Amino acid sequence: MKRYFLSEDDIPRQWYNILADLPNKPRPMLNPQTHQPMTAEDLFPIFCEECAKQEVNTTDAWIDIPEPVRELYKYYRSTPLVRAYGLEKSLGTPAHIYFKNESVSPIGSHKLNSALAQAYYAKQQGIQSITTETGAGQWGAALSYAANVFGLDAAVYQVKISYNQKPYRRSIMQTFGAQVTPSPSMSTRAGKNIINKNPNCQGSLGTAISEAIELCRTTDNCRYTLGSVMNHVSLHQTIIGLEAEKQMEMAGEYPDVIIACFGGGSNFGGIAFPFMRHNFIGERKTRFVAAEPESCPKLTKGVFQYDFGDEAGYTPLLPMLTLGHEFMPANIHAGGLRYHGAGAIASQLMQDGLMEAVDIQQIETFDAAMLFARTEGIIPAPESAHAIAATIREAKECIETGEERVILFNLTGHGLIDMAAYEQYLSGSLHNYATTEEDIHKFTDTLEKLI
Ligand SMILES: *Cc1c(COP(=O)(O)O)cnc(C)c1O
Repeated sequence: MKRYFLSEDDIPRQWYNILADLPNKPRPMLNPQTHQPMTAEDLFPIFCEECAKQEVNTTDAWIDIPEPVRELYKYYRSTPLVRAYGLEKSLGTPAHIYFKNESVSPIGSHKLNSALAQAYYAKQQGIQSITTETGAGQWGAALSYAANVFGLDAAVYQVKISYNQKPYRRSIMQTFGAQVTPSPSMSTRAGKNIINKNPNCQGSLGTAISEAIELCRTTDNCRYTLGSVMNHVSLHQTIIGLEAEKQMEMAGEYPDVIIACFGGGSNFGGIAFPFMRHNFIGERKTRFVAAEPESCPKLTKGVFQYDFGDEAGYTPLLPMLTLGHEFMPANIHAGGLRYHGAGAIASQLMQDGLMEAVDIQQIETFDAAMLFARTEGIIPAPESAHAIAATIREAKECIETGEERVILFNLTGHGLIDMAAYEQYLSGSLHNYATTEEDIHKFTDTLEKLI
């Protein structure tokens, strides 16, 4: 068989909360002024209450998926688990390669899994509008659609460079009724400060987050939503791994290695955490590999420190592997991976040696994307291409050893709105960007002063 689906009845009814089972829990988020751990109540002014509670829940391993959210999941779930026979054949590898195809969601990526949950909880609480940031526009598109489904207003700050370079994603958000502002903008204090310092600033996710949080704080009955990094976002994404677990069983195999691209960690956690629980109880020895861009290498080269999640320092202090909240990553096409820090859970897993990370140059990721497109017929998102490149590295290792390694990777999205990037690749004008020690020290040396 090539593709595996679940019946509607078999779509999971609960998400998996790895915080309950982690051998070492991450250190708590801290209030930047008092340095005291943040409680759920402390987060209520920013996040809706249910998400805030999930964020700090370290006791319940299973959390019910609200029925209205599960009903909406049924529009596109289960997503297919696919055996990549075409890719295997062209590589000549004995490895068995599977991918979970999250690109089939209506908006084209895994981001909808959390957007629907976050919009639902906001509606439940009587919230009227939600704000957020977006880079390439995948999260903004998902959130705009989810807000529309639940009758909420959505205001999205989009990183200015992407706002101009990826006009179709902007139009998608506007189609769903969202108000989209390029960031930095003059509409917030954080934005004005940045523009005054540097009028040509093209923005970053850190800057856009600051603006979205500021708008949330200054607007009545409004909450902020985030598409990655936070624990509750990874929680919602575990629907991916929980489905994959059942589908791998249908295929009669179990993954030796699970691979996902890494921006803030939500799709990585989503596919990896449900499988990781079997490692914790000694049942399995699966390896977990995160693939990040060499131009934004927080997992492989970042420092483990408390840091802000945004440029202006509006968020709580998060325990993370980070390049520093003022780090401005090179302008690679994988916009969703251009974030300076890793979520608390993945950062702790790295510290404890329970997962691995690789960093990959932009051109290698597009080489991989091209091969995948030509052998499987799907044009992957530039972010997903990092997972494909890491998968190809693993599969090539097996050629030498003859090992029938079972590899599962997450195809987070399609790249049909990223064709300008492919066009650059095809015309030979795509570049690699390395990150030097100096780049990293520049913004991490001062982090110790934060606490
Ligand atoms: C946002 C995004 C990512 C990265 O985000 P994570 O939270 O690290 O999963 C990866 N792929 C696509 C297609 C995205 O939109």
